[in-house]
Amino acid sequence: MLSQRLASAIAQRKAADGYRELEARLGPQGREALVDGQRLLNFCSNDYLGLANHPRVVEALTSGAKRYGAGSGASQLVSGRSDCHTELEAAIATWLGFEDCLVFSSGYQANLAMLGTLIARHDQIFQDRDNHASLIDAALHTRADYHRYRHTDTRHLSTLLDQHPANYQQLQWMVTDGVFSMDGEIAPLSELASLNQATHRGLLVDDAHGVGVLGKHGCGSLAHCGVAPAEVSAMMLTFGKALGTFGAAIVASREVIDALRQFARPYIYTTALPPALVVATQQSLSLLQAEPERQQRLQRRIQQFQYEATAAGLEVLPSDTAIQGVIIGDNHAAMAAAEQLRARDIWLKAMRPPTVAKGTARLRITLSAEHTESDISQLIEALTDV
Ligand SMILES: *Cc1c(COP(=O)(O)O)cnc(C)c1O
Repeated sequence: MLSQRLASAIAQRKAADGYRELEARLGPQGREALVDGQRLLNFCSNDYLGLANHPRVVEALTSGAKRYGAGSGASQLVSGRSDCHTELEAAIATWLGFEDCLVFSSGYQANLAMLGTLIARHDQIFQDRDNHASLIDAALHTRADYHRYRHTDTRHLSTLLDQHPANYQQLQWMVTDGVFSMDGEIAPLSELASLNQATHRGLLVDDAHGVGVLGKHGCGSLAHCGVAPAEVSAMMLTFGKALGTFGAAIVASREVIDALRQFARPYIYTTALPPALVVATQQSLSLLQAEPERQQRLQRRIQQFQYEATAAGLEVLPSDTAIQGVIIGDNHAAMAAAEQLRARDIWLKAMRPPTVAKGTARLRITLSAEHTESDISQLIEALTDV
């Protein structure tokens, strides 16, 4: 019975050109990566600032392991928390201008915790339709009433908020990515913050792709949009993207963070992030702050890509972030394009449903501060050819 069910699901996926093949890299992924014996120019990494292979970050990870061991040994509430967790949380809160911070073992878990703890079952959730899968799953997990508004469409959101007014004990939660992971668009955060001024509302932001990339000091989408920390209920950031390591954090008021510490099951019932990773993240945060030129270099590559792609007549989605998209439409055509680019030593991935909406299969390109001007030109040339 199980075998029949799985075989049919997999056959369906194959028939729709949606079957996923995993590839294993040899060695690190940086500007280049070695895959199947081929050296490829890498446009599918989220290491936006080139910190994942930075010698000082790698050294911090090693010395952290020598000092604290390989694992954390337990959940943070038991014995898994080290002094370096406290230090990193203080550094992140100060950097982003929030009262307090809590470190998580992954962004997926942090989102489960953020929504699962703050949103009551009798509340209402309003999510951007293109939110990251972890936010969608986290919303289901709350079992609250659940509405999805059209992508970045705050007018549609307002209509839905009016159509589903809150009763005296309900909160209306607005939930959004800061930067959308499949098109690189920035959420209309200042309009969302205005809608959030009512006392019966809350606003939760997942800034996995904004922090380190956007805003003064790399403070992310909120800083970019001129929204103050006090205007949102909580924000999530991951360490696995611009910070180049692994793990995540939530920043919020002292009260919200205390509630998460007390009640967030994905925080309480999981092994703490290993201290070595905490030490490495602290080091990459120091580099991010000391070397703003990384963010500036990335911004120049983003502008170059947009300018040259438009000049070449490519259908690129408008984006001021490290994530760029070229819409192809058909799954098969998107896969074929990625394969042809591969033959030209360019590594990027075709994104297909259910990761993106049906009929909008695309090439997803991620840019990094490590890319050179000529890397971008080479990419544009190859995209034009295929
Ligand atoms: C990567 C990502 C996550 C999950 O973070 P992990 O630390 O990789 O679990 C959550 N939200 C968004 C928007 C992401 O891009």
